[in-house]
Amino acid sequence: MSSFNTERYLNDNGIPYRTHGGNIVSGYFNIACPFCGDHGFHRGIHPQNGYTNCWRCDKQSIESLIKELEQCSWKKAFSIVKKYSIKDCDIIESKEEIEYKTTLDLPKDFSQHFPQGYKEYIEDRGFDFLELRKKYNILASGSHGKYKFRIIIPIFMNGRMVSYVGRDVTDKQNEKYKYCEEKNVVVPRKDLLFGLDSVKSRTAILTEGVFDAINVGDGAVAMLSINFTRSQVLQLKEKGIENFYLGFDKGELAQNKAKELEGMLTFAKNINYIELPEGVDDLGELNKEDVKSLRRIIF
Ligand SMILES: [Zn+2]
Repeated sequence: MSSFNTERYLNDNGIPYRTHGGNIVSGYFNIACPFCGDHGFHRGIHPQNGYTNCWRCDKQSIESLIKELEQCSWKKAFSIVKKYSIKDCDIIESKEEIEYKTTLDLPKDFSQHFPQGYKEYIEDRGFDFLELRKKYNILASGSHGKYKFRIIIPIFMNGRMVSYVGRDVTDKQNEKYKYCEEKNVVVPRKDLLFGLDSVKSRTAILTEGVFDAINVGDGAVAMLSINFTRSQVLQLKEKGIENFYLGFDKGELAQNKAKELEGMLTFAKNINYIELPEGVDDLGELNKEDVKSLRRIIF
């Protein structure tokens, strides 16, 4: 892991910043946000987490902020981040390292007994319940506790269950997807990839959500968010994947993020964008016939 030498970058470029005062969280360098035309030092850059937050607009990666500040290409922005990156050991760590678990303990009320409503949710989305249970070891959460009324999808990496995500079957809870709490995970959220073990060649389809990847089948990897991290990208590289098919949601935000990801995949030989048919918003909605022909083209 490395960090972005924010202080040096800002000084080198004569960008005014503040490190304390109103609204400034300790450890952050705050600058005027170039995305929303702010003059009040609302965008905070944290050297270690790879992201920048604005009180007025949106979260952005460091690369995306530099691209905006310098009005340069993604390639240039990435090379600047690289130039200003420093190894963690060069920094005096103020925060204690979180110790992650070595095995994942599932809550006791997760079970293989699926009430009718859970099965219906799965079938309504066009999936085969028995196949999902067998292939992905999905579980039902029960009707109590933090994860109530959710289908639990375990996340395996290198054959180990390292985390899980629960999908609300009622569609009425605040969070559609609820992840295993960070204090209980084996692999933290920012490093998670779903389906990486299913990649058996140098080619992979990258999706946003877990059901997108399940619908496409083996060789599809869900990034589980559109805030892609360098650690995720590094794992894709280490897996030996060179040919990427990006299959993110149709919306503008997801498509912009896909472009950002393209800039991060510097080692890729080919990067293609999957074009979804009319009326289909994400790969999870693609019908069986279309999945078949997509797979025939790609694999
Ligand atoms: Zn802003």
